[in-house]
Amino acid sequence: PYDVLIVGGGPAGAAAAVYAARKGIRTGIAAERFGGQVNDTLAIENYISVPATDGPRFAAALQTHTRAYGVDIMDLQRADRLIPAAQPGGLIELQLAHGGRLQARTLILSTGARWRNVNVPGEAEYRNKGVAYCPHCDGPLFKGRRTAVIGGGNSGVEAAIDLAGIVAHVTLVEFAEQLKADAVLVRKLQSLPNVGIHTNAQTTEITGADGKVNGLRYKDRATGAEHLLPLEGVFVQIGLVPNTEWLKGTVELSRFGEIVVDAKGQTNLPGVFAAGDCTTVPYKQIVIAAGDGAKAALSAFEHLIRTPPV
Ligand code: FAD
Repeated sequence: PYDVLIVGGGPAGAAAAVYAARKGIRTGIAAERFGGQVNDTLAIENYISVPATDGPRFAAALQTHTRAYGVDIMDLQRADRLIPAAQPGGLIELQLAHGGRLQARTLILSTGARWRNVNVPGEAEYRNKGVAYCPHCDGPLFKGRRTAVIGGGNSGVEAAIDLAGIVAHVTLVEFAEQLKADAVLVRKLQSLPNVGIHTNAQTTEITGADGKVNGLRYKDRATGAEHLLPLEGVFVQIGLVPNTEWLKGTVELSRFGEIVVDAKGQTNLPGVFAAGDCTTVPYKQIVIAAGDGAKAALSAFEHLIRTPPV
């Protein structure tokens, strides 16, 4: 069995693997797709000490660093069941979708999250070519340009307020009749001079030309009228979904499906820790996921030295 078994090979999982392996304990990492969301990222400019890199290069570096410590890397492996230890100090079991089983004294869950898509024509085609999901990451790329934010919940309205300070103009497009964000955020948004708000507006298409976004088409749901906003960027903010469906009923999850962790990354199950975008820790970013992965590995190590095996 592994001393530490990590599920998920994004920044959180890779950091956990390096920290665990450096303790000289048997460490494995099973990931559906090593690198995680970073694989789909174009420019990364906010990982401190690395002024600029791109996603595939960052993902490759995660793997090189993890390999350097002799970690057992099991790529292209999806976990679909966690069986907790029968007693404290017992072995935790992980079932893989293809039928294999792995055992470990501690487990670190770092399965990340995925952005919910609007599923309109143009979204997939222009992803990273004007269609973006993370204002903290990609906001500065649209400096001085016109953008839209799809989604009027807290994350959409926060994104629009954030972008308004960077870009030329922001249009917020919300499907429902009213913005669902907290009133204090809505008031702040309404006070900004370079923001337009359309409610009851259904996004129907993200348009583009020459491989770049050039507009957003929406339908006024009250009148049925179609409108086209000329712009250069669209931020989709209709939800971030943690990859935790397979843990429902086993590990405590928040109402958003995030794994509930304490300050040490401990879940409700003894010996099971979690880190990164799949947890309740706020602000989903690479540097935060990596830090939390390191923290979870140190917590797992502490658990191992305090818990006699049975
Ligand atoms: P993830 O990166 O999501 O990795 C999860 C891992 O778990 C993957 O290996 C996945 O295959 C695996 N997995 C999932 N389910 C299972 C399962 N059941 N069994 C086994 N493995 C599983 N952040 C920044 O800081 N700067 C940026 O510039 C930036 N740009 C971004 C651009 C885009 C387009 C996107 C989508 C995100 C961006 N982010 C950025 C956010 C950043 O990528 C995430 O915060 C970060 O990757 C989270 O790391 P993680 O390890 O928690 O999860």
